[in-house]
Amino acid sequence: MRLFFLGTGAAEGYPAPFCHCENCELARQRGGRSLRLRSSLLVNDNLLIDCNDIVAACALYGANLDKVTTMLMTHSHTDHLDPVEMSWRAYPFAKTPVPTMAVLGPWDATARMEAMWGRQNEHHRLWMADVRHGVRIWRDGYTITPLAANHGTAYPTIYAIDDGKRSILYSTDTGRYPEATWERIKTLKFDAVIIDETMGYGPSGGHMNAEDVIYYREAFEAEGLLKPGALFIAQHFSHGYNPPYEELCELFGPHDIAVAYDGWKLDI
Ligand SMILES: [Zn+2]
Ligand SMILES: [Zn+2]
Ligand SMILES: [Zn+2]
Repeated sequence: MRLFFLGTGAAEGYPAPFCHCENCELARQRGGRSLRLRSSLLVNDNLLIDCNDIVAACALYGANLDKVTTMLMTHSHTDHLDPVEMSWRAYPFAKTPVPTMAVLGPWDATARMEAMWGRQNEHHRLWMADVRHGVRIWRDGYTITPLAANHGTAYPTIYAIDDGKRSILYSTDTGRYPEATWERIKTLKFDAVIIDETMGYGPSGGHMNAEDVIYYREAFEAEGLLKPGALFIAQHFSHGYNPPYEELCELFGPHDIAVAYDGWKLDI
């Protein structure tokens, strides 16, 4: 399974456009892995999770979404979902034909998509369906398990995704998991866990902070949920509470937690 991080930042990006705090200034000086678009992940070449800065990610990191046949949406917040981005799927913005894409997500996210595109759109080759927490979906060779997140939208969702060989948990945006979600997670095993680390040294709540991420790194290990060689990856960093990339590596390295960065491609 290939993972391609198209963005790893929180809603305002990193640096934040209108901010000159120490973290943003350091990111501007250093560039590289300290610069972050809004969070999105491409799995193999056909499964996209969330879409907002996909235009920027394709231009900067050479991503190509022309084979995507499934898009999962985590929740309805604008930093993860901009229906306008689907415009680029049809002529003249795409000059070559695209395969039909299923857009799957919480009802409040599909409602936002549907308001612009309808439940099914022949021209842009889209159709939509709502997911339900705990109810598995089989699609394109993936077994996808939507689970409830702890976040401030109507039906926030995280996903366990298994392609028959490898298994990941994509878990942003969420604070500490709801009890039922954690119980279900404990029935699974993962090759990679990608986890919300928005709040860094700040307070947690509807997002996790560094302390929460370290707590779960240990909990996943203790419960035997990590396959041999599994990666535990922090992402969705806010400039407000997180230092730039290098300092994050110093913070998380000793805990065997990887720090995601934009454009990171890895095969698991
Ligand atoms: Zn977010
Ligand atoms: Zn800032
Ligand atoms: Zn959010």
